[in-house]
Amino acid sequence: MNLPPDSVAAAIDPNPATAQMAVALAGDNWPRLLLVDDEPRLLSSLYELLRDRDYHLVTATCGSEALAQLNKLKFDLVLLDLRLPDMSGHEIMDFINAKDIAADVIVMSGDVGIEAAIGALKRGAYDYLRKPYSREELLKTVENALAQRKLAQDNARIASKLENSEKMYRYLVDSSPDIIYTLNHEGKFTFVNDRAQQLLGFTREELIGKHYSILVHDEDQERARYVFNERRVDERASRNVELRLKCNTGNGVERTFNNTLMTISLNAIGMHVPDQDIKQREFFGTYGVARDITDRKRAEEVISYQAYHDILTDLPNRMLFKDRLGLAVIQAKRKLTELAVMFVDLDRFKLVNDTLGHVKGDELLQLVALRLKDCLRRGDTLARQGGDEFTIVLPELRDRQDAKAIADKFLECLHKPFDLDGHEVHISASIGIAIYPSDGETIDELLRHADIAMYQVKALGKNGHSFYHNSMLDVSHQKIALEQSLRKALEQNELEMYYQPQVDVATGRIIGAEGLMRWNHPQRGLLSAGEFLPFAEDNGLMLPISDWMLGALCRDLLLWNAAGGDAIRLSLNLSPQYLDRGDFFEKMRGALTRYGISPAQIEVEITENICIRNPQYAIEQLNKLCQLGVSVAIDDFGTGYSSLSYLHRFPIHTIKIDQSFVKEIHDEQGHYPVILAIISIARGLGLHLVAEGVETDVQARYLEANGCTTMQGYLYHRPISLSHFIHVLQEQNRMSAPASAAPVMQAPSMIAIQA
Ligand code: C2E
Ligand code: CA
Ligand code: CA
Repeated sequence: MNLPPDSVAAAIDPNPATAQMAVALAGDNWPRLLLVDDEPRLLSSLYELLRDRDYHLVTATCGSEALAQLNKLKFDLVLLDLRLPDMSGHEIMDFINAKDIAADVIVMSGDVGIEAAIGALKRGAYDYLRKPYSREELLKTVENALAQRKLAQDNARIASKLENSEKMYRYLVDSSPDIIYTLNHEGKFTFVNDRAQQLLGFTREELIGKHYSILVHDEDQERARYVFNERRVDERASRNVELRLKCNTGNGVERTFNNTLMTISLNAIGMHVPDQDIKQREFFGTYGVARDITDRKRAEEVISYQAYHDILTDLPNRMLFKDRLGLAVIQAKRKLTELAVMFVDLDRFKLVNDTLGHVKGDELLQLVALRLKDCLRRGDTLARQGGDEFTIVLPELRDRQDAKAIADKFLECLHKPFDLDGHEVHISASIGIAIYPSDGETIDELLRHADIAMYQVKALGKNGHSFYHNSMLDVSHQKIALEQSLRKALEQNELEMYYQPQVDVATGRIIGAEGLMRWNHPQRGLLSAGEFLPFAEDNGLMLPISDWMLGALCRDLLLWNAAGGDAIRLSLNLSPQYLDRGDFFEKMRGALTRYGISPAQIEVEITENICIRNPQYAIEQLNKLCQLGVSVAIDDFGTGYSSLSYLHRFPIHTIKIDQSFVKEIHDEQGHYPVILAIISIARGLGLHLVAEGVETDVQARYLEANGCTTMQGYLYHRPISLSHFIHVLQEQNRMSAPASAAPVMQAPSMIAIQA
């Protein structure tokens, strides 16, 4: 079919937009060809020749039209007539080159001159066809051009892919957080990544060609030889071997290896040249990955240190102690020597903690630890067992005297007072000693027996040491038995409240009574509070016991009121542990309401120490009590860590002079400044005063003469049972009743009781 050239162009590309759309719809990967010829007949025959193939065809009948198409579309191939009316084919090729258009050009020309051909080839024509060309020749040339073009494009794509992937691997290797290296068969570096420089401080040039051993810490050379020479490639290859490497922390010029070390974890694998023929592969080196685990190692060290040490004192803890003791026992067994285990418990530490607070308590423990440590030899282990308890192993004892000498040294070194920011604190210790093998052959037995010996020291007055002895087991069994039976005592109603009257010496009348707890022990008889309450405090029994006490006091009070004692005040002792509990106030109020008791008849006795531990909380609790109408007395005044400044911040009504001061009074004409000071404090603050433990007339007269008129003590009454107390009350009431109302008969019985 012959079409006039302009209609050809029109048929192909009537409108650039639709043409482009058609291009996009028909096979997208078809090559696009531009056919340029000014002879319509030749152009349409060329078009006819190519139209049934998988090409997109665009035609141009002059140079300017060709340039316009080249500007607009991307062509793979241009079939170019050299002679055009408006410009030469060479000019079009120049345009293509200048614009860097990636189309190939096949030149078709009737020109027989060689220059035309050379000009075309010089400008990069793919081929040159002389008109008239044969159909086959043209088709072949077009196909070849397109095929070669595709090949070149594929190659370029692959090359760029390769280049990218090489770049990527290089990037990955260099930016790896780990050192990546290769060694040759002699163990010399053939490659290291950038990371090696950052971590070790050696440049690549400093390492390449050097033997790996220059990097390895001397002690690790042996292990290093093993991994750096790794020839295996399978899972038996070296994995996660830890080594220390030397770092170059100097500026690189002097090249000094200093002792900075880095711990690495190394994976190494042998490298082999695959050799199919010999079926054996030739070893040519090792490659490996070294990870910097310095931080991890450091963290592990810290963690394991903390797991085996006491944070407060920095001493070995219970676990490490057992470990060391275990080793010492094994050694002693092998060498047939003795060793000593000591249990050191500070005396009265709880008091320091309670009165000066935990921070000061901790400080004291640290100071004590330092002093104890100074008494020891190398090889001895001092550990903190917990709280105020320390344990010691003295391995390879020559004889028991060695252990005794050290225990004496301990006691001696604690003798000097401790200075806690101006507070001078005196502390002592009770030390129990157990000797391997006579007192036990196992760790637990030795510790237990040293502990029992320590308790023995406590029981005998503290501040001393004692070797374990079998007879002590009985004492410790007694202690356990005591705890068990004290729990039972509550259930089986073996506790009882006794009352010790407080007498106004001016009138001789009982004006109050202090409730004191007693235990009717089934075997041991009546035990006074001092014999079992400290024990209850230590064993968590104080709360149930105090609960019981509140109820018992209320029940007793109703009875004594019924006997005419409703003007007599009841003082009750408040355990610090009980006051510390948030619900103490509610319990107190609940009990008083339940039994219909007037708070005004109640006084609680607290020790000074309560007020100092947590003053704010104590003030709150005590204020609530006061608002209720209960009054507050400070017990054992003058013995605690009292700070007078607290006194007027607390709602206090009464001061009880401690019996230790009263005991000092032997001479009525004497001068007892502490007593006088307490009396004047009470006067100054407008407080009641009660003297405790008054046993002699001299004491009573001295106190009275100096202004203290309320007395409590054996001189007047011992603590007595409720029934006895009620009896005493009734007698007092009878005595003071108007003579007419009192039956005359009763007078002798009163005399009998007072006698
Ligand atoms: P405390 O409050 O200082 O009680 C006074 C202690 O001195 C009592 O000992 C009492 O029997 C004793 N005593 C009284 N007059 C004399 C005397 O003239 N000479 C001598 N040498 N001693 C005298 P007890 O009953 O053994 O109580 C000891 C401590 O136990 C009490 O000291 C108190 O702190 C506590 N306590 C007693 N009963 C209770 C109670 O029911 N609850 C609480 N929480 N603590 C109690
Ligand atoms: Ca008391
Ligand atoms: Ca007291």
